[in-house]
Amino acid sequence: MAKGKAPVRKNETITLQFEDLTHEGNGVGKINGYPLFVPYGLPGEEATVKVVKVNKNFGFGKLIEITKSSPHRVEPPCDVFYKCGGCQIQHMSYDMQLEMKQNQVKNVLRKIAHLDDVPVHNPLGMEDPWRYRNKVSIPVGEHKGELITGFYRMRSHDIIKDMDTCVVQDEVNDRMVEAVRRIADRLGIEAYDEKNDKGTLRHIMVRTGRETKDTMIVIITRTAKLPHQDELVKELTETYPHIKSIMHNINNRRTNVILGKETKLLYGEKYIYDTIGDIRFAISAKSFYQVNPPQTKKLYDKALEYADIGSNDIVVDAYCGIGTISLFLAQKAKKVYGIEVVPEAIDDAKKNAKLNGITNTEFVVDQAEKVMPWWKAQGLRPDVIVVDPPRKGCEVDFIQAMIDMEPKRIVYVSCNPSTLARDLKILDEGGYETKEVQPVDMFPQSMHIESVTRLEQRLCN
Ligand code: SAH
Repeated sequence: MAKGKAPVRKNETITLQFEDLTHEGNGVGKINGYPLFVPYGLPGEEATVKVVKVNKNFGFGKLIEITKSSPHRVEPPCDVFYKCGGCQIQHMSYDMQLEMKQNQVKNVLRKIAHLDDVPVHNPLGMEDPWRYRNKVSIPVGEHKGELITGFYRMRSHDIIKDMDTCVVQDEVNDRMVEAVRRIADRLGIEAYDEKNDKGTLRHIMVRTGRETKDTMIVIITRTAKLPHQDELVKELTETYPHIKSIMHNINNRRTNVILGKETKLLYGEKYIYDTIGDIRFAISAKSFYQVNPPQTKKLYDKALEYADIGSNDIVVDAYCGIGTISLFLAQKAKKVYGIEVVPEAIDDAKKNAKLNGITNTEFVVDQAEKVMPWWKAQGLRPDVIVVDPPRKGCEVDFIQAMIDMEPKRIVYVSCNPSTLARDLKILDEGGYETKEVQPVDMFPQSMHIESVTRLEQRLCN
């Protein structure tokens, strides 16, 4: 390709062959080496594409017509798939989704960490990759004087009006969103108006325990007062006895963050329960809890297998949330130390240890990158460390403290292959060899990829 000059013009219509996919799920086709990214194009396909944006080194196109279709193209079951920003790859067969996720993990390990020879196993997928989510947080708006709920249109804050179900969501949660919206509408509760920062009801959050079927509803408002609170609670709980908790969260800031600081109890207990394997968990509104229960079991089983805990082992579970992985580890270890930054989650973790009669755990609230160096200075020498950080991965101070503690093994649970690869590189230089990676598909129909990695301390001769 001649440098500095794109071979296509804006608004031009071209024929394009797709040969790859981006991390966002867009098809990639090239014209004289110049890449064009096109939403919904699949590798192996040929299509008529309208060029919509031309940058110096790459451009974007819009799919007009598929002239040669991939055998992996499927009809998305969701009516609003092409509008909604929630799922990205419902148009792709599930087999292809899994293959693509495996390739992505392999590619970032090679490109970012230069770990070319590490085995990346076939992803553990779902038998039925639909209706798996146990939690929904949905924005509330108004249309023609009525309350509406729906996800945002892709790359916007416009609520999709005609969305009445979400095919990756537990049906109970779908029904609960509809019920809260309908009752709130009848009681005359106003929606939040994001543009003018006025009105009341911002989001409805629902979480249902897959095993227990207990439901928590969190009503998020701009205002400190929730109008008609008693009527709303009465009608919901009388109609739906599986609602075990209703919370009111106040978020008066102009922000994309859904939950505000203050959470009040309106009904029941401030947590619901769920079980994974033989352990029972209390989960409160602000605590992280894995969203795909059947896959969570597979993820934790793999993490436990890789951790290979003996009865004399001291273990650290960093980024422990409500102590899910910690309690499974504690059934095998001598002692487990958990760290987590959200105070409510640590309250849950302590409660959960008690609830299950587990006495060999200690939980600390703070940033993992602060606690680990301090533990190291105190002389803590864990045999095994398990980490499960958020998307941004681990801080360098945290990783250095892990290396200095000299555990035999590290198990890294990650929801972002790019930051995983970055951190594996640092660990590799610090003496920890990446042995194998097991992707687990926690988020079918979306581009997100979870994985568990096993690292071993390199033995010096
Ligand atoms: N292992 C848990 C939670 C994993 S999610 C589970 O499987 O349920 C990641 C967790 O890291 C969240 O609970 C989040 O609140 C916590 N977190 C985010 N940043 C942190 C930090 N700097 N230090 C400690 N915990 C953090």
